[in-house]
Amino acid sequence: MATVNDHYLKLKAGYLFPEIARRVSAFAEANPEAPLIKLGIGDVTEPLPEACRQAMIQAVQDLGSRDTFKGYGPEQGYAWLREKIATHDFQARGCDIDASEIFISDGSKCDTGNILDIFGDNNTIAVTDPVYPVYVDTNVMAGHTGSTNERGEYEGLVYLPITAENQFIAEIPSHKVDLIYLCFPNNPTGSVATKAHLQAWVNYAREHGSVIFFDAAYEAFISDPEIPHSIYEIEGARNCAIEFRSFSKNAGFTGTRCALTVVPKTLTAKAADGTDVELWKLWNRRQSTKFNGVSYIVQRGAEAVYSEAGQAQIKALVNFYLDNAQIIREQLTAAGLQVYGGVNAPYVWVQTPNGLSSWDFFDKLLHICHVVGTPGSGFGAAGEGYFRISAFNSRNNVETAMQRITQ
Ligand SMILES: *Cc1c(COP(=O)(O)O)cnc(C)c1O
Repeated sequence: MATVNDHYLKLKAGYLFPEIARRVSAFAEANPEAPLIKLGIGDVTEPLPEACRQAMIQAVQDLGSRDTFKGYGPEQGYAWLREKIATHDFQARGCDIDASEIFISDGSKCDTGNILDIFGDNNTIAVTDPVYPVYVDTNVMAGHTGSTNERGEYEGLVYLPITAENQFIAEIPSHKVDLIYLCFPNNPTGSVATKAHLQAWVNYAREHGSVIFFDAAYEAFISDPEIPHSIYEIEGARNCAIEFRSFSKNAGFTGTRCALTVVPKTLTAKAADGTDVELWKLWNRRQSTKFNGVSYIVQRGAEAVYSEAGQAQIKALVNFYLDNAQIIREQLTAAGLQVYGGVNAPYVWVQTPNGLSSWDFFDKLLHICHVVGTPGSGFGAAGEGYFRISAFNSRNNVETAMQRITQ
């Protein structure tokens, strides 16, 4: 008799987004005339930059003749893309990262899950609370946790609360953890980490032989010049950190799919016999075996992000969303709400008024303003009393939603 991976049965049944959908459709059925605006989604809304589209069209043409046709590409990604990324995203910021340490993939969501393939099963794992749910659920699937308690926390994971009380910056643990997930600029809180904070994490990781998984999916939204864009801007990070980046949020590739993972060749972890093993070698082996690369067309589209026109277009795209975030911040503040984030990130993290629970505030906004957001408690127990509003939307939707809330 075939059996299943029982660890999947421990997963909370995708509670957050299905529950939002259930409440929204119940409301829409009862109020078919109410024009809903959805500011809950973490997906981009604006079209793909012209430079990327032109490059993809050209790439399709390349595939149409025998001399320029491409079959399987390198599993790690084409060298021309990896080199542009190394130069523009890392070396230009003083990060000592070589093109050979960059692995192109079809998404950071997949990579942050797949990376667990090359780590042992007995690591102590720390996540922030609230958190991007993928980090938690992929560890549940891999059997790294027990079941959930009444707060929805999995036994075996270390939760580091991030709330207004600590400026949404996790306190460095006093005990040892082996793997640490950090996401800056943060989804869902929109907070950022200073150089000093990241240095403290790197020092901690080096002292304890831990590995930091640094998710920089939103680095393009950093507007403060003092805030680091990459963990490799921090002294010592080459020996303790893996960084994940994506073209999803800066260039609108959520549906097109292209991302990258950086594994420095100087980064090692222990084998069972105590020897140091280069993680680069294991990830290279993993990708060569289980992955066959991102399509040539999409990689050409990603390469165009680094052209002069591409750089200008993605800057305009990011600024458009940041302007949305500023409108949301200003209007909600004027309405008397306490807001966080939204300056170096496309998410505004709102404190619910009068001690309302996240879900009560969700219902209120839905029923009175016909605006949909995301309850903070859905991202973790410490998200209770908060609410996420996304700046990924049209200007008209953002302005209309804010008018409804402030009225
Ligand atoms: C959107 C997002 C990503 C990007 O994921 P892709 O699979 O590359 O689209 C990564 N991390 C976080 C926290 C995100 O919100």
